[in-house]
Amino acid sequence: MIIVLLGPPGAGKGTQAMRAAAERGWRHLSTGDLLREEARLGTPLGLQAAAYMGRGELVPDDVMVAMVAGHLRSVPDGQPLLLDGFPRTLAQARALEACVPGGAIRLAVYFCAPDPVLVARLLRRGRPDDTREVVERRLAVYRESTEPLVAYFRNRGVLRTVRADRSVEEIQNEMTAIVEEALAAR
Ligand code: AMP
Repeated sequence: MIIVLLGPPGAGKGTQAMRAAAERGWRHLSTGDLLREEARLGTPLGLQAAAYMGRGELVPDDVMVAMVAGHLRSVPDGQPLLLDGFPRTLAQARALEACVPGGAIRLAVYFCAPDPVLVARLLRRGRPDDTREVVERRLAVYRESTEPLVAYFRNRGVLRTVRADRSVEEIQNEMTAIVEEALAAR
């Protein structure tokens, strides 16, 4: 079962997904991590992606869809796969639904937090794309291209919202309870 983790940069999607993966054995697929690994290896895809990432822009949809599709071929229904950082555009969401067995995402967890909290977290984290200028651009790109997915999944009745300006522990408990509930309702 594919679970979409949605929310602005700095909301803690990656932290939460890594913890659930470590403690519960759930699968975690981070498109940002995949791209950073490609960039580190210096592959053509990685070099192309690094230019977008360094500016805080999105990597083009066709590149992203091709990259993710291979990873989604074999997702057992009873096992959660936390999809962290994908989809980030409506085109990606449609492409995702086209390759999900059964054709629909049944759970999207939306991590929401006020901008000042997000900016403070990102600047503390200190990744190369976490400079103030790039962070501001990433938030603007999020508002423009990714935030419409909140309404997209809400309209499908599959959106659950988690307040992400709380402790890692509290958010983890709420997220895992939501996922367990969706698994039980299959
Ligand atoms: P993240 O680690 O999720 O914050 O992603 C870091 C960067 O990777 C983003 O700022 C984008 O440049 C790129 N990226 C990751 N996932 C996607 C995606 N689904 N679509 C386009 N670009 C992405």
